[in-house]
Amino acid sequence: MEDLIRPCIAAIKPYEPGKPVEEVQRELGLTDVIKLASNENPLGPSPLALKAIAGALPDLYYYPEGSCRKLRAALAERLQVSMDHLIVGNGSDELIKLIAEAFLREGEEVMMAEHNFSEYLFAAQLLGGRPVFVPRRGLHHDLRRMAEAITDRTKLVFICNPCNPTGTMVGAAEVEDFLARVPDRTFVVFDEAYREYASAPDFPDLVSHIRRGRKNVIVLRTFSKIYGLAGLRVGYGIADPEVIGWIHRTREPFNVNFLAQVAAVAALDDEEHVERSRAMVWEGRDYLYRGLAALQLEYEPTQANFILVNVRQDARRVFSELLKEGVIVRPADIFRLPTWVRVTIGTPDQNERFLSALERVLARLG
Ligand SMILES: *Cc1c(COP(=O)(O)O)cnc(C)c1O
Repeated sequence: MEDLIRPCIAAIKPYEPGKPVEEVQRELGLTDVIKLASNENPLGPSPLALKAIAGALPDLYYYPEGSCRKLRAALAERLQVSMDHLIVGNGSDELIKLIAEAFLREGEEVMMAEHNFSEYLFAAQLLGGRPVFVPRRGLHHDLRRMAEAITDRTKLVFICNPCNPTGTMVGAAEVEDFLARVPDRTFVVFDEAYREYASAPDFPDLVSHIRRGRKNVIVLRTFSKIYGLAGLRVGYGIADPEVIGWIHRTREPFNVNFLAQVAAVAALDDEEHVERSRAMVWEGRDYLYRGLAALQLEYEPTQANFILVNVRQDARRVFSELLKEGVIVRPADIFRLPTWVRVTIGTPDQNERFLSALERVLARLG
């Protein structure tokens, strides 16, 4: 078989998803399991989205509108860009791949910080690009170092902001310095999946660069996180119309399903749901900071809806023991941080349960 595949496929490691609740219940014979592993919104989908889905069900026999006209119109108004600045994907994961399909030639470099979301590496490997990992400053992106590492072969730079799994952010000033040093032939993709949770006043406004005509900046956002629609798969990209036009060519004609489009339009209008979700996460952050400090654990202050915690021992063991307590987290060894776990900020009850389970587990493991 090895002789039949495209050589670049051999290096790809299958994605390892967060463990589903049902699987843990079945395997461990537990009934009350909470999942704090995939940064989903524990408040669920926007109620307005659910209502819109129910109303749209009879129309399921039609093909969806292929270019997501209504959703792009709603987003364009909100973001003060034209519809041609927007592309919608089957999750922003799909857009990461489509961007690489549109622009990445074999052997060109795809740059990212170490300890990162896996899809950037996946897109690079799938298209035969050369992944380049740049060390971080602590757990932060080192944009200076990244700028210095750009070569005439660098086609794509991915900056996850706020970053999964670290929760760290790059601020407006450092982004300006960085962009001033990036050549036109290199695209910088800012993955803002957790943007709505960021609380720092100096969060960079990349869309303003795009509005002013900058061509090598692409911003990705998603309905999977604060909007609570991960199961429907819908995310979007913002870039110069010319750039978007090329990415569109790589897209399947009906890449975003009908219910996803309907739900996303409704969710976008549900300010109350977004505000409630954000307030819960911001309060949950402070609660978990205090609890982790009381357990004398190091953690990384977060701009997202998850926290990276140093458990100072094999994270896999802590993960397995937490499973027995009915709490699913993400061991960060998959991000090459073998003593850290990433926990999604949940409801107040879930956060409390996580902390007490963690305390018991660490006492047990010694
Ligand atoms: C969750 C997440 C996404 C969103 O993926 P979707 O495909 O839109 O569900 C994108 N980037 C990062 C870093 C994420 O953590």
